[in-house]
Amino acid sequence: MSEKLDQLKTILAEVTDLNRATAVLSWDQETYMPPGGVTARSEQLSTLSRLAHIRSTADEVGRLLSELEEETAALPFDSLEASVVRVTRRDYDNDRKLSPELISEIARAGSTGQPVWQKARREADFKLFAPALEKNVELNRRIADALGYKDRPYDALIDRYEPGMTTDELETIFAELKKAIVPLVADVARNADAVDVRVLYRGFEPAAQVKYALDVVTKLGYDLERGRQDISTHPFSTTFGPGDARITTRVSRDFFNECLFGSIHEAGHAMYSQGHGDDIDHTALWGGASPGVHESQSRLWENLVGRSRGFWKHFFPSLRSAFPEPLRDIDDEAFFKAVNKSYPSLIRVEADEVTYNLHIMLRFELENELLEDKLKVRDLPEAWNTRMKSYLGINVPNDREGVLQDVHWSYVSFGIFPGYTIGNLIGAQLMEKIRAAIPDLDAQIERGEFVALLRWLRKNVHVHGRKFTPNELLERATGKPLTPAPWIAYVREKYGALYGVKPVPR
Ligand code: ZN
Repeated sequence: MSEKLDQLKTILAEVTDLNRATAVLSWDQETYMPPGGVTARSEQLSTLSRLAHIRSTADEVGRLLSELEEETAALPFDSLEASVVRVTRRDYDNDRKLSPELISEIARAGSTGQPVWQKARREADFKLFAPALEKNVELNRRIADALGYKDRPYDALIDRYEPGMTTDELETIFAELKKAIVPLVADVARNADAVDVRVLYRGFEPAAQVKYALDVVTKLGYDLERGRQDISTHPFSTTFGPGDARITTRVSRDFFNECLFGSIHEAGHAMYSQGHGDDIDHTALWGGASPGVHESQSRLWENLVGRSRGFWKHFFPSLRSAFPEPLRDIDDEAFFKAVNKSYPSLIRVEADEVTYNLHIMLRFELENELLEDKLKVRDLPEAWNTRMKSYLGINVPNDREGVLQDVHWSYVSFGIFPGYTIGNLIGAQLMEKIRAAIPDLDAQIERGEFVALLRWLRKNVHVHGRKFTPNELLERATGKPLTPAPWIAYVREKYGALYGVKPVPR
């Protein structure tokens, strides 16, 4: 067996290297590349993804997998060998359904679509971006058709990112969330005065913010020997291997939350990458279990830790030393409340915990409607604005703060957005278990100790990489499949207390 497994691993290692080279080029494109580099870069990305696709879908891989499946049949489900074969098979079957031409077209559309989106966003003019999005909708449809689905085209796309998840299940989850969130938003709105948010807009020197944010994330456990932080339009994290997991952030003088919480969020992603087991490097198991599981790590650090009272008891003194003027008359409790202000807002990445999932629900619905041709691209801004009004009660002043705000639709990505909500839910579900395992977690956070928390996440989530599907991982870590109940209980309790609203079981 070891000889065949070695042959398979040699191929997987080459595919991994090609994908990591692609990631380096994409990172450069979003951080340092001059605008003139776009054409050549899109060709490079297209070539590399085509080569990776050809290599990973070669007949030889299929033959090796068939032989290895027989030989690993008796091994435990979670053994390295059985898992490499099982997950490689899932990828192989999915990838074989997509032609190299389609893969290459997807890569090119992404690379050329992004600068078009950037320009349209800058000028707040959706019409500039519409042709690129029409192309992307068509490519999403072609992917769904190629992968195959029983009921809804979205099933094919969501399963590609969140293995095992269906459109119907998501609709059920969103319905449950909506039932819990909408009354909570109303309760919070009635007591809006309980939280004063003005301190966040007093002006914080940008370079000092970037430095402070990097200092905080290293204290949480982000390893700078194997990471770095840069600036980009849209914050993201990326990884090129066990020794290199990077984050980007953006910074605004006039709004404090953007830089620090963006950095904590991306560092949560990067710490996940830094925690993958050495034994899975250069195989199909290396990487995050799904975008949803990835997002559970970023949201857990950003919200469940970074927006906790204990966190601010610990960090507020150093924050006030770094920014004495804007924080002159503020204490840690007032700052803790300010960063947890809940109010309906335009921008997803700045949305608070209570309203955030409504932003995702909106995108999930619109992607479905575009895919099923119930909505035309040209009518998208209007559909967006109408729903923002209906779910969050706010008017969208322009496309930049509306339909053009996210980078995602500039590349072929339908099916990724639900992962953000799934991530919120997984984060809360894991945290419920972590609190049982580490009873003095809050006291540890208040002392600035994050080692036990990071160790728990490493052991139960990070180290496994893609070995398990999201639900397999959750069953092992928490004893239950995905459920929105812990998240709903968490926001009701936290925001009920913050806003002096009595949590009412509904
Ligand atoms: Zn994220």
